[in-house]
Amino acid sequence: MNLPEPPVAEDPIREEVRALDRAVDLGRSYRWADRGDTFPWATFRALGRARLLGLTLPEAVGGRGLPMRRAARALFELAYRGGTTAAKLALQPEFSSLLARRGSPALVAAYFAPLLAGEMLVGNQITEPSAGSDVGAIGLTARRESDGYLLDGTKSQAAFAEEAAAAIVYVRVVGPGAPDGISALLVPQEAPGIDRAAGSDYGERWMRRGRVGYRGVRVPLAHRLGAEGGAFADLKEELTHERALLGAVYLGVAWAGWEEAVRYAGERHTFGRPLADRQAVAFPLVEDLVRLRAAWAQLDLLLGRLDAGEPAEAEAALSKWYCGEVALRAADHAMQVHGGAGYSEELPAAQRYRDLRSARVAHGTDEVLRHLAARRLWGGRSATTGAAASAPAKKG
Ligand SMILES: Cc1cc2nc3c(=O)[nH]c(=O)nc-3n(C[C@H](O)[C@H](O)[C@H](O)COP(=O)(O)OP(=O)(O)OC[C@H]3O[C@@H](n4cnc5c(N)ncnc54)[C@H](O)[C@@H]3O)c2cc1C
Repeated sequence: MNLPEPPVAEDPIREEVRALDRAVDLGRSYRWADRGDTFPWATFRALGRARLLGLTLPEAVGGRGLPMRRAARALFELAYRGGTTAAKLALQPEFSSLLARRGSPALVAAYFAPLLAGEMLVGNQITEPSAGSDVGAIGLTARRESDGYLLDGTKSQAAFAEEAAAAIVYVRVVGPGAPDGISALLVPQEAPGIDRAAGSDYGERWMRRGRVGYRGVRVPLAHRLGAEGGAFADLKEELTHERALLGAVYLGVAWAGWEEAVRYAGERHTFGRPLADRQAVAFPLVEDLVRLRAAWAQLDLLLGRLDAGEPAEAEAALSKWYCGEVALRAADHAMQVHGGAGYSEELPAAQRYRDLRSARVAHGTDEVLRHLAARRLWGGRSATTGAAASAPAKKG
């Protein structure tokens, strides 16, 4: 069997990930995290000690300051070895970069430094029961008072609903002279008036997504991240960044499953011959090889643009959608090749499929992402309504 190398350039950062894997067995931790009853703190702390948290974030706030291309190589390797768990844990500080960019030095020291050490979780709360893809419909209110805000409303689907020490909460400021648009506040999750409840999910169970209710919750003015009403522009920038990096995660998970399927098809015999001898089994696997490479090429194009400082919102939307689609299809084929064993929880094939399925929804649904790209093609008009588009994209 000639297993090809993944389409990812060799890089010392990949060796750092391999060293971590040798020390803590990321694959085992991935399987364990599927139970979803507790958050994988040990893996998160190990990533912090290995300085694999904050890959692209400025050294001034404790990050590694790596270019996107190098960070993506690290994430591919993490996902290849430790599934979406290791890689998405590594992305947590990237998902909270608004705190590093817009928070006061006191907030950064109190929350961002422990996040980079893997000691504390900071969630992101955008989605509400009546506002998902449509970020502009956010209704959680922050009533302005002399020294801060009073929060009322409900967030839903939030990762780490019960574990996060603080969350970046997207709100609508109300009161005399309040601006249009959404604002971001860093809200400690132990504040009086907050109630939280984790639910159960199809995949990525370790995230323990859930609902967070706010009833008269006081937040100091100093916890606002950026200008009042100005959070949408910040959110768009952050989404572009995280969608780009997520592509590497999806492809790393899928590559691991694809390799297992290729090996299995070479070893498993039915009707006296290896599965790999049957075109019905072999063709989907060789097609996946090309699609996985093509998706990496699409991603690499985007990463180059981002490293050059070029705007890339639509490219990031397309890349995230395409990497997710290709990865999910490969994960489906990998399950199929393993037959009934693939459907069982004995092998990681089913877990990979379940985890990758979130790619179609989280951090922007497939539909919204293609809508974003189409809007760019047709000069700023909405592909869904035909109106001049300001429809916000979505995070997850
Ligand atoms: C694993 C996971 C983790 C997540 N973590 C978080 C988190 O930490 N914080 C957080 O705030 N949220 C989180 N989310 C929520 C996620 O961001 C939302 O589920 C997502 O944005 C979609 O919103 P919705 O569920 O309300 O669906 P809706 O917006 O109601 O959409 C329902 C369906 O309709 C489609 N649709 C909607 N509008 C249009 C349109 N105009 N044209 C065509 N199709 C359309 C959508 O694509 C989707 O298929 C997470 C989700 C997942 C799956």
